[in-house]
Amino acid sequence: PSSKREGFASVPDTTWEDIGALKDVRKALQTSVVRAIQEPERYARFGIENHMGVLLWGPPGCGKTILAKATAAESQANFISVSGPDILNKYVGESERAVRQVFMRARSSVPCIIFFDELDALVPRRNDSLSEASSRVVNTLLAELDGLSDRSGIYVIGATNRPDLIEAAMLRPGRFGKLLYVGLPGPVERHEILSALIRDKPIDPYVPEIGATETCDGFSGADLRAMLTEAGQIAIDRDSDGIECCDVRQAAKVIRASAGDVSEYET
Ligand code: ATP
Repeated sequence: PSSKREGFASVPDTTWEDIGALKDVRKALQTSVVRAIQEPERYARFGIENHMGVLLWGPPGCGKTILAKATAAESQANFISVSGPDILNKYVGESERAVRQVFMRARSSVPCIIFFDELDALVPRRNDSLSEASSRVVNTLLAELDGLSDRSGIYVIGATNRPDLIEAAMLRPGRFGKLLYVGLPGPVERHEILSALIRDKPIDPYVPEIGATETCDGFSGADLRAMLTEAGQIAIDRDSDGIECCDVRQAAKVIRASAGDVSEYET
């Protein structure tokens, strides 16, 4: 089953093996979420009571969504994906109802991970400019999160490019309390990501080495994937049975690093 249709709960088929690099983040998710879902008694015995919600943050295309899906798959938990802007772009009152409905659906399919993509859009910092409608959404989400107990079997993972734009009350323990940075890959990480991306495909095993060169400087995981897609088209154009290094080098020339200047993400 796949979780392509937004709002519907199912166990994703993404695994840790599909993800390259990001070892520390995977390890943290394994401890904070996967094992907590699988061994609730042990966590209770250790007195780990704060319900743990996680916020994945960093530049676009670096793996936040795929990490959340793999976390659900590894936990054998259902996965509900909600997009912050989608929920917010509703009629007055409908957004709060949509938030409550998401948690209701999660309760009927535990264990369940709710993934809030672009959380900053849903719960922006409460300041003077925040509309009344928007602050009602913040309050509704806070109430739902605070209502979760350690035994509820519901976990939340948020994603954002800009945690500084999120209402600070959301980032306390028991809410989205654990911040994990998902950064742009360096040469070694690009090699690892390409190795994950070419798994089980007719692609020259030397291709990941291209990732370690400056040809791919600044490329995110999403850019590396786009590069392989482009290379696949080049290989098909020349009637090849597989993707060779020359196809990938040619493809790299038309791919632009999409994450832009990442210095704005480093705090
Ligand atoms: P956004 O902020 O734009 O939502 P994101 O951080 O959620 O981006 P993903 O949607 O997880 O990024 O990544 C886009 C695609 O890029 C993934 O589906 C996957 O194919 C590829 N990708 C990104 N990072 C990795 C990685 N570390 N290993 C393998 N594939 C990756």
